[in-house]
Amino acid sequence: EAFNANVAGAKALNAFIVETPEKALEAADAADKAKAAGEPLKPLSGVPIGMKDLFCTEGVQTTAASHMLEGFTPTYESTVSKKLWDAGAGMLGKLNLDQFAMGSSNETSYFGNVISPWRRGDGDTAALAPGGSSGGSSSAIAARLCPAATGTDTGGSIRQPAAFTGISGIKPTYGRCSRWGIVAFASSLDQAGPMARTVRDNAILLETMAGFDPKDSTSLDLAVPQWEAGLSSNLKGKTVGIPKEYRPDGLNAEISAMWDRGIDWLKDAGAEVVEVSLPHTRYALPTYYIIAPAEASSNLARYDGVRYGQRDLPDGAGLQDMYAATRALGFGPEVKRRIMIGTYVLSAGFYDAYYTQAQKVRALIARDFEQAFEKCDLLLTPTAPSASFALGEKQADPLAMYLNDVFTVPASLAGLPAMAVPGGLDGQGLPLGLQIIGRALDEQTVLNAGLAIE
Ligand code: GLN
Repeated sequence: EAFNANVAGAKALNAFIVETPEKALEAADAADKAKAAGEPLKPLSGVPIGMKDLFCTEGVQTTAASHMLEGFTPTYESTVSKKLWDAGAGMLGKLNLDQFAMGSSNETSYFGNVISPWRRGDGDTAALAPGGSSGGSSSAIAARLCPAATGTDTGGSIRQPAAFTGISGIKPTYGRCSRWGIVAFASSLDQAGPMARTVRDNAILLETMAGFDPKDSTSLDLAVPQWEAGLSSNLKGKTVGIPKEYRPDGLNAEISAMWDRGIDWLKDAGAEVVEVSLPHTRYALPTYYIIAPAEASSNLARYDGVRYGQRDLPDGAGLQDMYAATRALGFGPEVKRRIMIGTYVLSAGFYDAYYTQAQKVRALIARDFEQAFEKCDLLLTPTAPSASFALGEKQADPLAMYLNDVFTVPASLAGLPAMAVPGGLDGQGLPLGLQIIGRALDEQTVLNAGLAIE
């Protein structure tokens, strides 16, 4: 394994914004005591977990990696994190991320970028991006700082960082995990999910994290399946669809070769493979980059200098001035860019041309998947169009950064479960990820295909 010993200690990765080892130790002690007393252990007794700093944690600073929320200490616990603690896990700390989960490289964090523990094999020592926005989670797991972490995925933020760092992560069907207590980015897309080294660990964590929550109106009122017990790498009787639109001219040759290897692995596991078409795929990225900023601009309106975190109140300033000064100070450049795009596409003169149109295309993208799933049970694609890139490489060009999400946003727009699993290394020894997309609510088939690949 190419874990890089050159990194000057775990701290250099900048994966954590706040460390809470005492909470992890408390959970470990509770597990030890239960064991000594002969009491049954809980599903996650004593397991130390890294918590993406987008989840509100009672009494522990929650920043969304922004200056806006620096010093904000919630008085409540998010539903997903509460479920993890109730199952016996302990929090190791709050993990760094792209500011308000906007980004694909972790470079938009107010607390400095996270770096990946991986390095290229050709002697190039440039620090690499751990992916984003859950880059603190991916880097910490890849560097063995924690066995598992939470992530959130709006357009790929669990899957792409998992792919960049050689780990696994699953975004469940929209509505499986409660969004209550998670700092909102784009509410119709945001989903929490686990990130871990193995598919089995992901299944165990997701069973704990998922479940109906009356506090989230989009939460699905369905029983949580026993995904771990249902794990099987035998794919006999399953048909895998290969969407031809995901293989555009100019697709990186190593990504293409990894995809072919993945197809062979699923065939070896007993699956049949067919080509399918998702004709509206090329509209997914522009659709996402209208809908996500639109919802973000609305969600971020709450940061007004009154209710949360920072306040900038220049001398003699009125209310409007305070809003403006606080928001100018508290939000980073990428967040401001999204707010500007979002308010533009929602403005009276442009609403129909952009936002309404994007919602229509979103429906067509969802229908593409429904039609493909008449011919197959799951889809196999690459997770990202390249391996990890050097920090700074794409920072000056937001469009180049957005292109990184080309394979992950379609499943987000359709609300489908999708998982990234390691697909081997490229010529430089860097990890590449395969993506498995399943039918709505069929996380089991997604996990099983992941197990067959792993
Ligand atoms: N990279 C995408 C974006 O910047 C996805 C982010 C996410 O899933 N949170 O919007």
